[in-house]
Amino acid sequence: MVEPGDPTREQFTFNAGYLCLDFVNTVRFRPVSDRFELINTYDDLLAWARHATIITPGEAAALTESARGRDRSTADALSHARALREATYSIFSSRAAGLPARETDLRALNRAIGRAMAQAGVVPTGSRFEWGWPGAALDLERVTWWVARSAAELLTSKKLTFVRECASYDCGWLFMDTTKNRSRRWCDMRTCGNRAKSRRHYERRRAANGAGRRAD
Ligand SMILES: [Zn+2]
Repeated sequence: MVEPGDPTREQFTFNAGYLCLDFVNTVRFRPVSDRFELINTYDDLLAWARHATIITPGEAAALTESARGRDRSTADALSHARALREATYSIFSSRAAGLPARETDLRALNRAIGRAMAQAGVVPTGSRFEWGWPGAALDLERVTWWVARSAAELLTSKKLTFVRECASYDCGWLFMDTTKNRSRRWCDMRTCGNRAKSRRHYERRRAANGAGRRAD
C-alpha cells in the first residue's frame, strides 16, 4: 500500500460512477476499527481533485502556492472536506439501506452546499459555458465545493436509486449500480468481489472435506 503523504493515481480509486461517491471512497475499511485514511494532508486532497479532473495540474500548483504559510486555513479546508465526506457517506449509505438521512448530516451537507452556491457561477469554456467558481479560483475550499455540488446533484436526481454500498462487511465504499439487472454487489471485483469469491470457494471446499463437522 502507498504510504500516506505520497499520493499517486494508484492510491485513489475512481470507479464509483459519481464524483461525490468517489470522494466518499477515500477511506478504506470505514466500518471497522482499522479504517485507512487516504486524504491525510491538504496535498492529498489536491492530488485527489487533480485525478478526479475537477482541478487542472496548474490550478493544483497554484492552490499549493496559495496554501503556503496559511496553516490554519489549510487545516480548516482539509477538515471541512473530510467532514463533508463523512456526512455524504452517512446520507448515501442510509439511502442505500432504505433508511432516512440523519438531521445532523443533512445540516452539514446543506451548510457546504450554501458555501458552494455562494461562489458558484458560469464560466466560458470554448464556445460553451459550464459551472465553476469564477470569483474564487484559488480558494482553498474549492474541492469541497465540487463535492457538495455533486452530492446535491445526485440527491436530487433519479439516479439516486442506483446508489449501493459494497456488500463486504468491512468495506463501506459506495457506488452506482448501473448494471441491467441491478446486481452489482461489490465496489470492485478485483478486491471485495475477489475476496468474497475466494471465501465461498474455501467454504465449499471445507464443506466438501467434511471439515465443518464436529469431531466427537
Ligand atoms: Zn468493497
